[in-house]
Amino acid sequence: MNTRAGSKTKPKDLPIKLSLTIGGRSVAAENILHVTDPATGVPFAEVPEATRAQLEAAVSAAEEAFRDWRLRPWAERRDLLLKYCDAVAADIDGLAELVAREAGKPLAKATAEVNGGLFFARGFANLELKSEILRDSETQFVRVEKRPIGVVAAITAWNYPALLALWKIAPAVLTGNTLVLKPAPSTPLATLRLGEITQRIFPAGVVNVLSGGDDLGRWMTSHPKIAKIAFTGSVATGKAIMASAAPTLKRLTLELGGNDAAIVLRDFDIERQAEDLFWAGFANNGQVCACMKRTYVPDELYDPLCKRFAKIAASVKIGAWNVPNVQIGPLQNREQYNRVAELVDDAIGGGGVPFFRSDVPDGSGFFYPITLFRDLPDDARLITEEQFGPALALIRYSDVDEAVRKANDSPYGLGASVWGRDIDKALEVADRLEAGSVFVNQHPSMGPEIPYGGVRQSGIGVECGIEGLAEYTNTVVFNVKKGSTT
Ligand code: NAD
Repeated sequence: MNTRAGSKTKPKDLPIKLSLTIGGRSVAAENILHVTDPATGVPFAEVPEATRAQLEAAVSAAEEAFRDWRLRPWAERRDLLLKYCDAVAADIDGLAELVAREAGKPLAKATAEVNGGLFFARGFANLELKSEILRDSETQFVRVEKRPIGVVAAITAWNYPALLALWKIAPAVLTGNTLVLKPAPSTPLATLRLGEITQRIFPAGVVNVLSGGDDLGRWMTSHPKIAKIAFTGSVATGKAIMASAAPTLKRLTLELGGNDAAIVLRDFDIERQAEDLFWAGFANNGQVCACMKRTYVPDELYDPLCKRFAKIAASVKIGAWNVPNVQIGPLQNREQYNRVAELVDDAIGGGGVPFFRSDVPDGSGFFYPITLFRDLPDDARLITEEQFGPALALIRYSDVDEAVRKANDSPYGLGASVWGRDIDKALEVADRLEAGSVFVNQHPSMGPEIPYGGVRQSGIGVECGIEGLAEYTNTVVFNVKKGSTT
């Protein structure tokens, strides 16, 4: 047996035993991946690292299952999806603990994540793609249908492992596709468990789940029998996947990174809104795709808002997943810790001085202090790049046109937000922001019926809503000439 690990330390004993799901069965490991506890930096579990042969078996199983699954009535697939949601709900405590431990988030937030994933999956089940008759005359009949594409490769990031897995499983199976799903290598546990639950509900081969490293992702995205890729992750990987998918022209949905701006307007109510604004940047320790990553504040509110942010930040309880009342945990992995540290060090190297840094637990975990900057130059990397962590720059502006111009001056376009008491005025500014989702007095907010995706380099296509379901289908037209045979 081969082993690969982020650390050489042998995992502490843990009664976590999870398998790959291939062709409706649990399949054991030939190779092993270690999973590190972000709160300690020490491996605590091991999972299978799928081999290329195991990917071949999963793709074959998915291909075989597709022949029948695509023909099942929509209502039957929906009912099985709802049954699956019930089975996941019955395992909520076990799943939440896996998410908490692997992602390093407080148990209550991990529970909310799994419940959120179920809310979305059940919400997708309420949607239906229907065929549409475009013409029905004496001479012609035209019907448009949305047909499943085939075997889908789904690849997810580590920030919301259970939610992202359910965001892929639910629309893929509902629309009649079959799936090979791969979680991020650092957070495979909850996804493998979600895979094991599928074995009791769906026909063999409809959902296959493989854990593995980035290589497994590369094999999947270049596999000739995979027809669509549903990807959530970084812009750099999204570009590599697009290139890898080109030779076989796979369909793509790419949900990528962002550098979301928030614009605070002059009528912002610091007393009542500062907490919400703060958490728009620091929920999940800043590891949210569409969260506030740059904050533009008008001159007259700048000092009081910086002061208020420091006060709120000082009250935040940081700790491991199982510490009571903890609000945020460590960063999820060492690379992400290094990345946030690099951007903060760059800001300090350029003359920036953080006006607040929190204390974090001692030890070898990936705890990074909440770090707040003011008066950084516009070209500081913390402002121009995605930090994906608990460091934030508040940026002063005098004229709202200047704030809008700077907010839009980015290769990204995932989310953006505007904050103020007068909603109509906020909407006027929102209308000028270039992003896939523009929020007012919140950041982010999503729902199963609300399409979600990025513009510019933040992605291609959308997830959620009817439009998100349609991304898992081909448009097929039946076009009949009438009257020529009578
Ligand atoms: P990542 O791109 O490094 O990895 C994501 C997944 O891709 C992992 O499963 C990884 O193993 C796999 N992968 C890596 N290289 C690959 C390759 N060449 N081919 C195929 N697969 C490959 O991203 P990450 O660090 O896990 O996640 C953080 C990023 O994800 C951030 O940029 C964040 O904004 C973004 N994100 C976006 C959304 C969204 O909905 N837009 C949601 C969550 C996270």
